[in-house]
Parts: sequence; C-alpha cells; structure tokens
Amino acid sequence: MGFFSELFGGIASSIRTVVHVVADVASTATTVIKHKYRQLKEKYANLNIDQLKRTRFDRLKEVNDEIIDYERKLRKDGRLSEDDLERLKELTTERTDLRTRIENSKEFLAAEDIVENESEYKLSDVDFSSPNELTRLGGQVMLGKLCPACQRPQVIRWKNDVREPTVDDLFWGCTGLFVKDSQGHAVCRKTQRFSAHDKKIFANVARPGMELQSNRLNNIVLRPETTQLIKNKLSDSVNEATENYLCPVHHEPMTLRTKSSATDLLDLYYLQCQRCSQMVKIKSATQLDAVLQSYDQKGLF
Ligand SMILES: [Zn+2]
Ligand SMILES: [Zn+2]
Repeated sequence: MGFFSELFGGIASSIRTVVHVVADVASTATTVIKHKYRQLKEKYANLNIDQLKRTRFDRLKEVNDEIIDYERKLRKDGRLSEDDLERLKELTTERTDLRTRIENSKEFLAAEDIVENESEYKLSDVDFSSPNELTRLGGQVMLGKLCPACQRPQVIRWKNDVREPTVDDLFWGCTGLFVKDSQGHAVCRKTQRFSAHDKKIFANVARPGMELQSNRLNNIVLRPETTQLIKNKLSDSVNEATENYLCPVHHEPMTLRTKSSATDLLDLYYLQCQRCSQMVKIKSATQLDAVLQSYDQKGLF
C-alpha cells in the first residue's frame, strides 16, 4: 500500500497533488505526512530513493522488451510453448510489481517535497465551476487509484467536447479504454463519478494563475503572444519523456509530441507511449501548466 493511501486513503499524483482527502485527518494532513515521512526516512536511511526509482525504470524497460518479444512471437506463430507462457506470466507479474514500487518511490519523493515546502501546501475544496487543481491532473496516472473492475490505473477525464469542465463534468476513467482486444474493442470501459472526498485536495496552492477561472486561463494561453511564449518554453521538450505521465500498459514515461495540423495551442500537444498508442491530449491551460512543470519550465506564468 502506498504512502498517501495508507495515511488517509488519498490518491496522489506525480505532481504533488493529493486528491481524495478523508475529512477526519484533513486538518492534520501536514503533521501526519511529516511524521510518516520521518519514520520512513529513518527506516530507509541508507537508500537513495531517486536512484532506486531510476533502477526500477531501467528494469521495467528490460521487462517490456522481453514481453514485447513474446507478444511478437505469439502474433507470428499463433501460439506460445508452455515454457514461454510461464515466462510471460512471470514477466507480467514483475511489471505490475515494478509499477507499484515505482509508485511507492514517487510517493515518497512527493512527501519529501511536501515536508520541505510545507508552507506552500494547503488543504482545500476544489472550486466547483473551475476545478483547476483537478483538470491539471487530466491524463496523469494517479497513484493508488485502480479500476474496481480490472485493477488497471484510472485517470481523471472529461469529455473531449467540453473545454472548461466543472466538477460535475469530471470522472475517473479506466485506462483499459485505450487498450484494445484482438477484435479492436476496449478491454474495460468502467468509469466512476467523483465522490465528495475526491473534491477535497491537498496541493501546492502557490501556483500562479491557478486562482483564475478556467475560461480566463484558456483565453490567456490562446492569445498569440502567450501561445508563442509557451511554444518557446516547450520547444526543447518535444520528443522528450516525462515520468509524470506514464503509459498505463507499459508504465514507462510518455513522450511529448505535437500535432502537425493543430487548430490552436489547446489542440497542439499530446503525450504518447514509445511502445504503444496510449496517448494523453493536452487540451486545457491547466494541463499545459502541469506539462510545463513536468519539464522543469515552472508553469504558465
Ligand atoms: Zn478497468
Ligand atoms: Zn505503452
């Protein structure tokens, strides 16, 4: 079980936002995190968690290489031997296990950031009409939020034709939607409505611009001069991978790409897995803020 879920049933994102904070521990969230973090820090004093996370990502690459070889073999020959099937099962289990371990180290690093920058973190209710802190997380695999039907990771989603979602437009969507079976059908279409707890968040509230209404933010980034500024900031990051967006199948970092025929800035960027077609569209100013943060470009402002 991960750090935040163990502490208060929370669901953390890689960019230091905890969604779903249970009310009775809410007022003491920072104290609880601090206490637990110190305990773990003592326990793992000899470990470099960042290094450990890297080692796990490296191993994940090797495991995926081997799995993909077997998948290729299966497509070519139509079947796998008993031994191959056994090995494939082992590898798939190891991949899930690595995902959990990577999530755990990411949660630990998130907790470290919270402890070090305590004064910037606050517990709050999201704004109903402009849930910026939640739409920022759109498409990111959340730590500790698995689909109840198939145990795949879930992401915060809203319909493509909604540009400025309210809290009611948001839902948890299973990433199995983007995984197709041999007939080309999505393997899981499960969605869940947001609960009252999901609307309570613990996050760094000091991010400039996030206090603005989402339509205002979108209008600002669509101004030609702001659009150009953001494109400049991200120009070196295109085709680079980020650990904040992981492929829900392969769990490897996704790569920032641009569409060749985008209508505007909020149609231009997406993240894609290097192994498969899993993709996250960046369609709101708040998501752009998260992408900029992911590539160490601070944020929109
Ligand atoms: Zn599912
Ligand atoms: Zn993938």
